[in-house]
Amino acid sequence: MKQTLEQLIKLQEIDQRLLEIKEHMGDLPVTVESQELEVASLQSENEQKQNRIGEIEKDIRHHEAEIEDFTTKLGKYKEQLFLVKSNKEYDAISQEIDHMKATITESEDVQLKFEEEKTEFEENIKLNTNKIATTSDSLTSNRADLQSALAETTQEKEELESNRSIIFDKIEPSLLNAYETLRNARDGVGMVSIIGKACGGCYSQLPPQTVIEIKENNKIITCPNCSVLQFWDGAEE
Ligand SMILES: [Zn+2]
Repeated sequence: MKQTLEQLIKLQEIDQRLLEIKEHMGDLPVTVESQELEVASLQSENEQKQNRIGEIEKDIRHHEAEIEDFTTKLGKYKEQLFLVKSNKEYDAISQEIDHMKATITESEDVQLKFEEEKTEFEENIKLNTNKIATTSDSLTSNRADLQSALAETTQEKEELESNRSIIFDKIEPSLLNAYETLRNARDGVGMVSIIGKACGGCYSQLPPQTVIEIKENNKIITCPNCSVLQFWDGAEE
């Protein structure tokens, strides 16, 4: 049991250091990831809007040609109006002229709507482009910070993790399980040194007999209050 206790103490030392490394990175990994996602999503949004603008421009050209065609026809009808020989013919051409005018107005309205839509998309793209530029600047500097933080700690982290798995094999599975469960729940370590006569995890006072037993360092003892495994790092109060 004493050997297992020693291994557990080593394990929590490693986890303590891993925790420090993680804290050293701070929010950088999460920030970099979310900024990368933001830039990518804005870029794809802009691409979609640019495609839509392409379609709108095609529609606008189509309507322009249509309006031109109708205007030519309208001109012809107007010329014919001078050449009519009967009232009936005059009425028929007048009707055609009115119809053509209405059609042109309709087409112009549609075209106007397309122009408005295009302007709106262009403004959105402009805003997104500004956002991309700002976020990219911040992303570049955050990436550099993360890179240097990683460069400082990657090797140490790998060594710690490899030592961790070596220690794993030396600890009885049920105890390891208990430790890992506590570690995950506490987001850190599963074993702490007592501080004076108190649990180092929840700071509640331990019974005197428990403190004595923990200080003997040859039994696995858990805190009656928070269940965290206890040891003594040798520091007096
Ligand atoms: Zn406790």
